[in-house]
Amino acid sequence: MNRFSYTRANEVSQAIEQHRAKGAAAFIAGGTNLVDLWRVNVAHPQVVIDINRLPLKQIEPTAAGGLKIGALVTNSAAAYDPQIAARYPLLSKAILAGASPQIRNVASVGGNLLQRTRCVYFYDAGTRCNKREPGTGCPALEGVNRMHAILGASEHCIAVHPSDMCVALAALDATVHLSGPDGSRVLPFADFHRLPGDTPHIDTNIRDDELITAVELPKQGFAQHHAYIKVRDRASYAFALVSVALGLELDGDVIVNARCALGGVAHKPWRNTDAEASLQGKTLSAETVRNFATDLLRDAQGRRGNAFKVELTARAIERAFLGASQRSFEESGL
Ligand code: SF4
Repeated sequence: MNRFSYTRANEVSQAIEQHRAKGAAAFIAGGTNLVDLWRVNVAHPQVVIDINRLPLKQIEPTAAGGLKIGALVTNSAAAYDPQIAARYPLLSKAILAGASPQIRNVASVGGNLLQRTRCVYFYDAGTRCNKREPGTGCPALEGVNRMHAILGASEHCIAVHPSDMCVALAALDATVHLSGPDGSRVLPFADFHRLPGDTPHIDTNIRDDELITAVELPKQGFAQHHAYIKVRDRASYAFALVSVALGLELDGDVIVNARCALGGVAHKPWRNTDAEASLQGKTLSAETVRNFATDLLRDAQGRRGNAFKVELTARAIERAFLGASQRSFEESGL
């Protein structure tokens, strides 16, 4: 049995102080991933700090013209918020593509960023796993790896980040607000999650004693031209084999700005800003999109169980461009 103590905080500063005083502590909000990990003996917090009473449930406009979403806003509340639905429909769609309504009703925005991979070996405490126990090995390399990474993986871990919401936040260039004993800081979304390298047990660049307080969206929401494509084994309540979050700014047929993040393919939402920049000023055509997908997937490497994901991702990118530009296959030549 895992013995633990439970405490509750009413203010951010109190939660941080409780964490500092208690050592091996975990913050808990919705608990939709932490409790799973706890039950299968992958997480063993000695102290659990309930943060549900912290004043982090607002969605409010920023001076820069964007929106700030409190870390304790539930996934459902974020997806159905009228401002988010109208200005950032890409984010709403990505959130609603994830999990189930029951889970979205309790899962928090902050917790969504911190959810851990769904690699089956990671959840099985009876197997080796470098992410769970550094230095023990990675059975997924030669084992069951249908859901695993084709980009940015290492010989130590080929797990993928499971979130849908984070793929949209990456495409939207969100930022993450953090508070800790040394004060507050803001991380660009691209710097929040990490690639596995030789430290696959560390998923993010947030410190153990820091708390996510908000996610901020910049002004540009790509409300007019966007798409979230999720390809999965089941029509609902399934993690992505591949997903694509795409935002386009178009002037007629010409691409003014493009942002494209991939999910289900790497240890973090995957972007290639050079490939995106190469789209600027180009006419939207089948050739443009195919060349972009080729650029994005140039270093992709499949394994026995997931090699199909390379072509699947290319096709999902094409579908995302069709959806975002509101064209048909006939019109586009794809
Ligand atoms: Fe563990 Fe990562 Fe290998 Fe899965 S892919 S078994 S999480 S080291």
